[in-house]
Amino acid sequence: MGSAALFHLARRRRRVLGLERFDLVHEYGSSHGLTRIIRLAYWEHPTYVALLRRAYELWRELEGLAGEPLLHITGSVDAGPEGGPIFQGALRSSELHGLPHEVLDGDELHRRFPGYRLSKQTRCLYQPEGGFLLPERCDVAHVTQALDLGADVRCREPVLEWGAASGRVWVRTARGRYEAGRLVICAGPWAAKLVPELARLAVPERQVLAWLQPSRPEYFQPGAFPVFNLEVEEGHYYGFPSFLIPGFKFGKYHHRREQVDPDATRREPEPEDEELLRAFAGRYFPDGAGATLMLKSCLFTNSPDRHFILDRHPDHPEVAIAAGFSGHGYKFCSVIGEVMADLVHADRPRHDIEFFRLDRFAPTA
Ligand SMILES: Cc1cc2nc3c(=O)[nH]c(=O)nc-3n(C[C@H](O)[C@H](O)[C@H](O)COP(=O)(O)OP(=O)(O)OC[C@H]3O[C@@H](n4cnc5c(N)ncnc54)[C@H](O)[C@@H]3O)c2cc1C
Repeated sequence: MGSAALFHLARRRRRVLGLERFDLVHEYGSSHGLTRIIRLAYWEHPTYVALLRRAYELWRELEGLAGEPLLHITGSVDAGPEGGPIFQGALRSSELHGLPHEVLDGDELHRRFPGYRLSKQTRCLYQPEGGFLLPERCDVAHVTQALDLGADVRCREPVLEWGAASGRVWVRTARGRYEAGRLVICAGPWAAKLVPELARLAVPERQVLAWLQPSRPEYFQPGAFPVFNLEVEEGHYYGFPSFLIPGFKFGKYHHRREQVDPDATRREPEPEDEELLRAFAGRYFPDGAGATLMLKSCLFTNSPDRHFILDRHPDHPEVAIAAGFSGHGYKFCSVIGEVMADLVHADRPRHDIEFFRLDRFAPTA
């Protein structure tokens, strides 16, 4: 989110400084792991679809500027019981926004995409525009373009504190002190460490992803295997075709429901993580459930309603915050960059972001 904000601000000819506590690409936050799903039939809420359309447009534009592929189309599957939130939500978004889609049962899905072995009763919405992004390359592309436009980027420079007064902001880092007209805070799992008001509203949670070696690799190639969101009795899962690593990749939303401190979390995957994930693959994707090739931990940052927080700071209108992406934010980075640039430099944001206001969590009388 920070890389995209940097790019959009630089593009508007603002003098902009990007500060990152680790390296330009690192594995301590939320944006590593080679692939991230992007999908239009948004089961979480139809309000996201307008932002998604713009996100696709901006990802394609960034690809053109970077001269490398960043977004791969595979189609997407949103599946689960007939009355469950994933299938019903995806159907609602598709119908409301006129998205091309097909509804299949589990057997029909298997005939079309043989890697999937869901029960016949499973209702599956297929949407042809789903796919995946390459997050590390996308972050680098945003930063490269911002640098070309004159932005200043400093990594290995943690922000220690910030303040705002008389329409100006200041930031103290491990290496110096800066003053500016505006501040954009996109700190991922560390959001509440920089903005204490977010303590209960942006809560880090430990996740683990698996890549397993398929016994039928041809079933798990990008052309044969759409990305998925799936509701089964064990919970909600998501997955990808093999790409860059020769393995079927997937994870479970809210994996072991472990809230953590991002500075003290267990990053090394454990046997319990692997067992939980392997059991899922063995049951629903048996041709993808061979030897483990890779496990990686990562962090979600959950808001109470699992929707994003995009707003100005309640006491400092010159400070904008992007937080609480709740495990589904990456696909939106390109458009969130534009939103953050608007929040600090436009009277009226071009996108309708009322749904994401911070004060929706304010205690009511
Ligand atoms: C396992 C996993 C799978 C996911 N799958 C998907 C998916 O398929 N599709 C999808 O759309 N989304 C997915 N998500 C969610 C998505 O990746 C996140 O919503 C998104 O990456 C959040 O980006 P961010 O910029 O908020 O956080 P981050 O990428 O963590 O960036 C925050 C940055 O701020 C820096 N920072 C923090 N504090 C300071 C400080 N004090 N000073 C300087 N720098 C600081 C951090 O080092 C970090 O680089 C997934 C997340 C995980 C963990």
